[in-house]
Amino acid sequence: MKTLKDVPLSQYTTFQLGGPCPCLIECLGPDELIATVQKLKKVHEPFLLIGGGSNLVISDHGLVPTVIRYLSETPLIERRDQAVLVAASTLLDDLALFCADEGLGGLNYATGIPGTVGGAVVGNAGAWGRQVGDALKSARIIDAEGRVKTVGPEYFGFSYRHSLLKESNEIIIDVEFALTPADRALLARERAEILKKRAEKHPDLTREPCAGSFFRNIEPSSQAQRRQAAGWFLEESGAKNLKAGGAYIFEKHANIIIKGRGACSQDVHDLHLKMMEAVKRKFGLQLVREVRFVGKFEHALQADSQGFW
Ligand SMILES: Cc1cc2nc3c(=O)[nH]c(=O)nc-3n(C[C@H](O)[C@H](O)[C@H](O)COP(=O)(O)OP(=O)(O)OC[C@H]3O[C@@H](n4cnc5c(N)ncnc54)[C@H](O)[C@@H]3O)c2cc1C
Repeated sequence: MKTLKDVPLSQYTTFQLGGPCPCLIECLGPDELIATVQKLKKVHEPFLLIGGGSNLVISDHGLVPTVIRYLSETPLIERRDQAVLVAASTLLDDLALFCADEGLGGLNYATGIPGTVGGAVVGNAGAWGRQVGDALKSARIIDAEGRVKTVGPEYFGFSYRHSLLKESNEIIIDVEFALTPADRALLARERAEILKKRAEKHPDLTREPCAGSFFRNIEPSSQAQRRQAAGWFLEESGAKNLKAGGAYIFEKHANIIIKGRGACSQDVHDLHLKMMEAVKRKFGLQLVREVRFVGKFEHALQADSQGFW
């Protein structure tokens, strides 16, 4: 466990944006996390928790509360027959790779999604029509009072890119996923194909920092319809040409904002408002964000108790 003072949070988000925070505690595994959270709760010190920072825009002004970063570069995974127990600090792609190597099917679609298992469960991350909540068997969480408890999938109230933990701000320690036996060679082939497709479709994070799709896809208005890509509505609304300061739209995908030269978090905020306005004007549709803002922004909505909104 490492405690760092006055660190720029831009180093901890895939957008490479965000001002400083006075204190950042890096926790690698469950024991460190539980001890840190319980200690801070005991002295009523406010804090917020991040994982890989791949779904966040942190304010240029930084954050006042202590930040706990729960991420382990080394996968913390244990196979339990046809299931796996994984620390929520493990990277989701490391988990997908582990399962593919072990011949366990059910999480291969998560190949290449950035961020941690914890971040993925909270946001019910997914791809190709599947989502992390589908295979979750149980999880250990820390509740608002600092108590550790084990909960089942129903506790999360999973829906498309959402779980109730987004509102409750409870913390996920580790997760058990129920998986099925699958052919290793097939999983490896599928994994290679997914990585190739993702490399073609997504920006290279080292050159074009972003947080993936900015808005959720559009919910169907009847059972006969499928969810429709927010990117299509944005493209049809002419959003691809929009800019704000140094922030611009990814040329291959209208639903991805890129941090260009000199861009700040406020630019990303301003650009996302312009995108929403364009779609509202053309289609009368209200886009819903997938990415979370945290901290102070001009023209911002009401944040929750931790500063997320
Ligand atoms: C290039 C790119 C491609 C992407 N592709 C996809 C995709 O295909 N599908 C998809 O769904 N998403 C995608 N994303 C978005 C992102 O990767 C996911 O949302 C990811 O699951 C976020 O995890 P994280 O650890 O980075 O969370 P963070 O961004 O660090 O945090 C997001 C939220 O989760 C909370 N959180 C994090 N860890 C915990 C924990 N242990 N307990 C409780 N709360 C926690 C934080 O408090 C915060 O509210 C993409 C992003 C990028 C940059």
